[in-house]
Amino acid sequence: MECYLDNCATTKVYPEVADEIYRLLNEEYGNPSSLHKRGRMADEVILKSRSAIAQVIGASREEIFFNSCASEGNNQILKNFRGKKIITTEIEHPSVRNTLRKLEAEGTEVIYLKPDGSGRINLDELESALTKDTALVSIMHVNNEIGSVNDLEKIGKIIKEGGYRARFHADCVQSFLKFPIDVRKFNLDFITASAHKVHGPKGIGFIYIRKGLKPESLISGGGQEMGLRAGTHNVPYIGSFKKICEILEPKMEENMERVRAYKNEMISYFKTKKYARINGDENGSPYILNVSFTGLRAEILLRLLEEKEVYVSTGSACSEKNMKDSHVLSAIGLKDNELKGSIRMCFSDTTTEEEIKAAKEAFEYALGFAERIGKH
Ligand code: PLP
Repeated sequence: MECYLDNCATTKVYPEVADEIYRLLNEEYGNPSSLHKRGRMADEVILKSRSAIAQVIGASREEIFFNSCASEGNNQILKNFRGKKIITTEIEHPSVRNTLRKLEAEGTEVIYLKPDGSGRINLDELESALTKDTALVSIMHVNNEIGSVNDLEKIGKIIKEGGYRARFHADCVQSFLKFPIDVRKFNLDFITASAHKVHGPKGIGFIYIRKGLKPESLISGGGQEMGLRAGTHNVPYIGSFKKICEILEPKMEENMERVRAYKNEMISYFKTKKYARINGDENGSPYILNVSFTGLRAEILLRLLEEKEVYVSTGSACSEKNMKDSHVLSAIGLKDNELKGSIRMCFSDTTTEEEIKAAKEAFEYALGFAERIGKH
């Protein structure tokens, strides 16, 4: 049986969401910028999706802006702080990390907070790094490689109660519709997220931008999205967000509990292998489990698991012919032989008990193979 455990990379589109996209493609073909009825109908689809997202994160409808993906959102927010002082972490997604590296090369001052061994940042260090002229704090909610969770509420409090002027951005790609997010309570100015991580289509995302802030658009053109993102709206994909929110929001807690049980079951299994080590915080996001098999090569394990139709990812990213060590695993202190043998499993609300059983059997096969060839 196929067992898809790569849900941080992307998820399978819910059938109800695919149906809704099909319906919108057929029925709502108007351009929302048109003044006639067809345009107004398409615009109504967008408004409803904006409202649905706003409701999930405690924002107002006018604070939600659609774009193509979270990478775009992260680029747009960060590039607006060019030349200023920014605080971030060492374990952000490349769409934040590489954007900041570029800004740094152009003279922007960036402070990188080091996470502890579990992948969380130290709040005292954040407080010490903050100054009156810090312009932006950009800290992800849930890390996409190891599932560590940052306490956005406490971070927001530190910024606000310290009287700092810094704006607060959180990449919420791996937490949106999984963890509670309350932009007012957390004192957030910007969040970024994407539909394809929560059973929506690839190529659509949104930014929450606190009322009154106006980051410059990356794309010049028409005045769509109140001038913050030019380009004709992708009405069917934007509309799909409403459906996704309707399906996932009422089940967030229940999903969390079920997925936590699956993660714990896999952890118990891995603890029977003396050469396996759980990376990050076992009690972090239940959706993400990262394990190092010391001395083994993750890409070989991946292929052996694939033979059994179990799909996972390696902790180190393959780029063309080179294996690049994960900056996240390096930052939390893994040694080379742990880095090279790291596998990431990402569960979803659609993961089943049968899949977990199949995954354990496939690992037994893959690890048994490695044991037989004398690796352990
Ligand atoms: N941020 C995090 C934490 C992610 O996990 C990802 C995707 O893996 C992104 C940003 C980029 O998202 P998108 O694919 O929508 O550009």
